[in-house]
Amino acid sequence: MATLRVAPKPAAKMKAAQIPRPGSAFEIVEREIPEPPAGQVRIKVNACGICHSDVLVREGVLPWIQFPRVPGHEVAGVVDEVGDGVSVWKKGQRVGVGWHGGHDNTCRECRRGDYRNCRNVQVTGISYDGGYQQYMVAPVEALVPIPDGLSDTDAAPLLDAGITTYNSLRHSGALPGDLVAIQGIGGLGHLGIQFANKFGYKVAAIGRGPENGALAKKLGAHVYIDSQATNAAEELQKLGGAHVIIATAPSSKAMSSVIDGLGPNGKLMVIGAGAEPIEVTPAQLIFSNRVVQGWAAGTPAASEDTLNFCVMSGVRPMIEVYPLEKVEEAYARMLSGKAEFRVVLTM
Ligand SMILES: [Zn+2]
Repeated sequence: MATLRVAPKPAAKMKAAQIPRPGSAFEIVEREIPEPPAGQVRIKVNACGICHSDVLVREGVLPWIQFPRVPGHEVAGVVDEVGDGVSVWKKGQRVGVGWHGGHDNTCRECRRGDYRNCRNVQVTGISYDGGYQQYMVAPVEALVPIPDGLSDTDAAPLLDAGITTYNSLRHSGALPGDLVAIQGIGGLGHLGIQFANKFGYKVAAIGRGPENGALAKKLGAHVYIDSQATNAAEELQKLGGAHVIIATAPSSKAMSSVIDGLGPNGKLMVIGAGAEPIEVTPAQLIFSNRVVQGWAAGTPAASEDTLNFCVMSGVRPMIEVYPLEKVEEAYARMLSGKAEFRVVLTM
């Protein structure tokens, strides 16, 4: 009896936007659709946000990044295939992946439940290929379920910009009614204002120039402070001094200038990453027990909280959407600082 030999099916292809080498423009390439290894899933990507920290890949800022690399750590899509040993996550389930791309479960911090500070933490789109492509694979500990009621394009920016503002605010120590200032009205700040309002704070938005005042109030600010026309620190003191200032604009100089706007026991929460040092004198900290603290995004579980809170409260990102083919234009738009406010790719 003749044996029927079936030729192996050629691997299916997909489009990916990769950075071939540090400092290079994006190139759209055809790649084989990856198979998920054990403990990982394959995601059919529907949307991926463009974040300023994608500069780390584009410019090769971190010397250990392996190229070519596909950036993207604001990923929203659907589980398309599961690797061996994956039981909780199912094909067809909507999921996202944020900055936190995996942890080892074995290091000192992981054994204490502090996954965010894992000594071997993986960053999506940096440690491995991220969401600027039609399919990606990710370890299960990085996955975030996306609730009904959130579109993929809305969920994507919430997985980094959203969780960073939400999580820093909810751990800031501010209580309902406290004066909380959001410095910077951009990709992070426009979400911070909304969260601060929904958390029940008295919200002061600090922006440069008069043009963002109306928008800030529409987003939920009770007070708008124009830092070009007035001294923002003095304006905050007139309101009693801020309990918390969430500093979102990547300007260390601007951050330094508002520290005197903190009230007693006030805290400057730094989430915007400027390259210069923040300047503060010991006296500024000592005499009112002030704190300067940094905050990175959070775990996938905290992202899950963020998405669920957004469904419950109506908080949404303001986005500009581009198709993957226009990644170069979309990236330039993000870099220009003129996007209102988060740029999102669709596949
Ligand atoms: Zn660890």
